[in-house]
Amino acid sequence: STAAPVTLVTGGNRGIGRETARRLAGLGHTVLLSARRPENAERAVADLAPGVRGALVPCRLDVTDADDVRALTHRVEEEFGRLDVLVNNAAVNYDTSRRAVSVDLDEVRRTLETNLFGAWRATQAFLPLLRRSPHPRVVMVSSESGSLETMSGGTPAYGVSKAALNALTRKLADELRAERILVNAVCPGWTATDMGGPGGAPVDQGAAGVVWAATLPDSGPTGGFFREGEPLAW
Ligand code: NDP
Repeated sequence: STAAPVTLVTGGNRGIGRETARRLAGLGHTVLLSARRPENAERAVADLAPGVRGALVPCRLDVTDADDVRALTHRVEEEFGRLDVLVNNAAVNYDTSRRAVSVDLDEVRRTLETNLFGAWRATQAFLPLLRRSPHPRVVMVSSESGSLETMSGGTPAYGVSKAALNALTRKLADELRAERILVNAVCPGWTATDMGGPGGAPVDQGAAGVVWAATLPDSGPTGGFFREGEPLAW
């Protein structure tokens, strides 16, 4: 057991997830940096660990795999006895070139499996450990592509997955409010990663709003949708 906040980041091996893990470890968190391929988690931890104050622990987690999720909950329970922060960051398929009228529904289903059900599965599974935290936080890394006000211009699978993730955020926040578990959705903004492509903001800027939601005080909001700490339209 450790006094430092224990934080799990999904999809922590690259992009915004990796930067979020780095930043939170820099703030002294013990960060479980998870990746679906364990060697990628190991590599990211080896690269980042020398520069941070807290601890980085490489973990394997494919959020589409219920056995993987269960195995990690057991490991976290044994090693730490609780989880303080869950950052549901893993996502796939920014399908800009597709249209809802013609997109292959198997592709939509695969997208939802990671972007919606992955976050839902991980949150359900880790809830017992979050309930043991004095300051539990859940961050859904969403996107303005999921805002109902911007449902045009491609990304049918991705946009629907993030709209559903936003709806899930509201449901969970409502159900967990009495337990003081803060659940918020965050759009990192267009960020230069493998998913975002070149031209977006640097990852430290994209991760800043995620870190903000992961480190909210007890008086902080729940059930909100934010970019860099400012409310976004649903
Ligand atoms: P990247 O494509 O760079 O990284 C995605 C990460 O998710 C990778 O670590 C990837 O792992 C992981 N991942 C994918 N599927 C799974 C899975 N089944 N289980 C576990 N991990 C998985 O994306 P970004 O860093 O750009 O995006 C991070 C988050 O930010 C996402 O939720 C995205 O939707 C959101 N976002 C990004 C924006 C941008 O402009 N970049 C804008 C708005 C939102 P692997 O290496 O194994 O593939």
